[in-house]
Amino acid sequence: MPQSKSHLRVKSQTKTSQQNKEIIIAIDGPAGAGKSTVAKLIAQKLGFFYIDTGALYRALTLKAKRLNLNLKDEKSISDLLKKTNIGLEYDKNNLRVTLDGEDISKEIRKPYVTDGVSDVAKIKEVREIMTTLQRKLAENNNSVLEGRDIGTVVFPNAQYKFFLDADFNERVNRRFKELEEKKENINMELVANDLSTRDKIDSTRKIAPLKKAEDAIYIDTTNLSIEEVVNKVISWIKI
Ligand code: C5P
Repeated sequence: MPQSKSHLRVKSQTKTSQQNKEIIIAIDGPAGAGKSTVAKLIAQKLGFFYIDTGALYRALTLKAKRLNLNLKDEKSISDLLKKTNIGLEYDKNNLRVTLDGEDISKEIRKPYVTDGVSDVAKIKEVREIMTTLQRKLAENNNSVLEGRDIGTVVFPNAQYKFFLDADFNERVNRRFKELEEKKENINMELVANDLSTRDKIDSTRKIAPLKKAEDAIYIDTTNLSIEEVVNKVISWIKI
């Protein structure tokens, strides 16, 4: 496996686990299913680390876009990752993402980054490096990780695995509201296009496609409030 010079940091949460006994909660699912909100609340309630793995792919995408790289040029994108520092710091319910020291927490949520992220995330070497980094991040820490391949590839032996899903229209509505609140210049059609394009690329790629791990608990969040989803997840966790 290639060695990455990338560096990830997580700081300031209390360590709650003992060496090699960390508890991993894997939360996978498509965009708009409620993963981030739910994963953050669960981490907060349990005192676990929160690791937003999508933020890592978004950070790399942002850097590649700024450099005007072709996102489909696998070699230049994976070479770029090898000389990139991505930081994840989760503190007081706030996720701070840094790229080579710069705070990019807000920038990576913008539609022009979202637009390219699935192309970057399907590159084999990028995924290998990111997987190694995610495992390092969770090393010796009880953690909630959210993404697309946590229960299937990154932590296939996670003690708890959940797959959050929701009807397509509901996911579009949620994402639209979220972007509207951030005053992004967006409409429902663009959001629907983004979600269906990403769903397709993420679930059909060769490496680590978005899919439910066989032993994951499936939760349809379409008609559930955030609190109801959190309670459902927590009801499975015995610590
Ligand atoms: O979760 P979020 O929407 O921020 O993820 C952005 C993109 O990053 C996804 O659409 C997917 O292409 C990629 N991703 C991934 N594997 C993960 C997390 C995110 O491929 N574990």
